[in-house]
Amino acid sequence: MKIIIVGGGTSGLLSALALEKEGHDVVVLEKDEIGGLCRSEKINGYTMDIGVHAITMLNNGPLIRLLNKYARFIPNFKEYGDYYVRENNELYKIPVSMQEWMTTPLIPHKDKILITTKIMDLMTTGFTKDTSVYDVVSEMGLSDVSIKFFDTICYFLSGEDMKNTPLWRLFTGAGYIPEDDILPFIYNDLKINPMKSILVRKFSPEKIKKILSDGFLTTIKNSSKKYLNKFVNRSRYWTQGYPVGGVQSICDCILYSLNNTTIKNEEVISIEEEKNGYVVGTKEDNYYADVVIYSAPSRYLPDIAKIDEIQKLKDKLRNIKFTKSLTIWIGHDENPFSYLGSEVWINPPCWATCVTNYDKFLAPKGKHLMGFSFVNMKKEHALSAIENKLGIDVDKVDMIHVQKAIPEQASCCIGQFFVYPKIKDNFYVVGTDADPRSMGITRAAYSVEVMLSEFKCVFKNRN
Ligand SMILES: Cc1cc2nc3c(=O)[nH]c(=O)nc-3n(C[C@H](O)[C@H](O)[C@H](O)COP(=O)(O)OP(=O)(O)OC[C@H]3O[C@@H](n4cnc5c(N)ncnc54)[C@H](O)[C@@H]3O)c2cc1C
Repeated sequence: MKIIIVGGGTSGLLSALALEKEGHDVVVLEKDEIGGLCRSEKINGYTMDIGVHAITMLNNGPLIRLLNKYARFIPNFKEYGDYYVRENNELYKIPVSMQEWMTTPLIPHKDKILITTKIMDLMTTGFTKDTSVYDVVSEMGLSDVSIKFFDTICYFLSGEDMKNTPLWRLFTGAGYIPEDDILPFIYNDLKINPMKSILVRKFSPEKIKKILSDGFLTTIKNSSKKYLNKFVNRSRYWTQGYPVGGVQSICDCILYSLNNTTIKNEEVISIEEEKNGYVVGTKEDNYYADVVIYSAPSRYLPDIAKIDEIQKLKDKLRNIKFTKSLTIWIGHDENPFSYLGSEVWINPPCWATCVTNYDKFLAPKGKHLMGFSFVNMKKEHALSAIENKLGIDVDKVDMIHVQKAIPEQASCCIGQFFVYPKIKDNFYVVGTDADPRSMGITRAAYSVEVMLSEFKCVFKNRN
């Protein structure tokens, strides 16, 4: 079958890899740089990713499952290390388990008790899908440092502050609630029949029926023992890594594993139905496809694809909310990150790491490369935060590089619309706006798994 993939980021390339290996004739149309956000820029001997990255779920997550199944090359991941908070020039491990919450010096003793009892309370009494982190945190009488801590963590889990971050995102991000458990609620809104989808593989039909009729609140309550167990016994971030060579090496492993896929540097401007397929138009040419896989932002899909199923979703798609990130890369003689892992700052929210701690070849000999990612922040404020927090004089460093990007095609905010990957039998959507689970590259890979599963159901039955 002739398949056209719109966009050549992580989700487009993973789709191309899998569909090529399944025997299809694949063309990728990418308007800009192949790799999308999963790319590294080389400037003055430094190799800088588009944003600070940690790759999650490397034990058995969707990225590794897809690469193991279809790729000839797998990136070499270095263990990521721990996450810290930097406050008043001290580093504190980010508390996750009950024991860590009870012993962290980051917050006052009173808050430790309030937070641990509240987490247990929420898991046993349940909460609604639209309960925000703020709804809970603002009523607890916590100190300022604890409130700001939750706000900061929310920015990095959802791309939004705590007023707009759903509580379920905090609980799935911390690992208390398995990410799959959230799926029936997200897709129920779309009126997709879960009996026919990939969800069947994860839940028995009886269980899905029960979850949907019980509702979010009761389901959380019913699973409270399982979730509480994860809170009490949670081990640390053993499944995260950083790819040697930068995130570009993930994209390169996929590209080197492709044999017959054609990649063209063209922007798709229209997709129109024709007979049993589509005519995909770029400024340069028109291409016929039996199946289209769209991996660019779905927010723009109604402008490109004049297809009934997409036009019906027009308002929802156009309302998908993005978040803007600002990343500053600094090359310097000194390295203030004397540990493996990364740190977050509370005021202003920032996520920082030194990537040469994982791979010294990302910088010229004797230099260190540090990345600082901020959400919705101006460059001047970001630079002065770096100076204040680390005592680095930014006028005297070896290199500064600034990147602005949209980390995910849909922020994980309250009321966000996530597209289900199957739009119709021969039109699919993949990318970070086509799955609510996890973040970034893992989220993109999840959407590809769902797309493949749906795609195979359709075409297996036809053949
Ligand atoms: C600051 C920052 C920090 C991040 N941190 C992490 C992290 O720690 N862990 C993690 O896993 N991920 C992280 N990410 C995000 C991760 O890299 C991306 O979410 C992921 O790579 C997205 O892949 P994608 O295929 O969904 O989208 P994209 O990479 O955006 O790919 C979409 C592609 O479609 C192309 N396109 C758009 N319109 C058209 C058109 N009309 N025609 C043709 N092509 C088109 C675009 O040019 C682009 O290449 C981070 C990103 C940023 C910016």
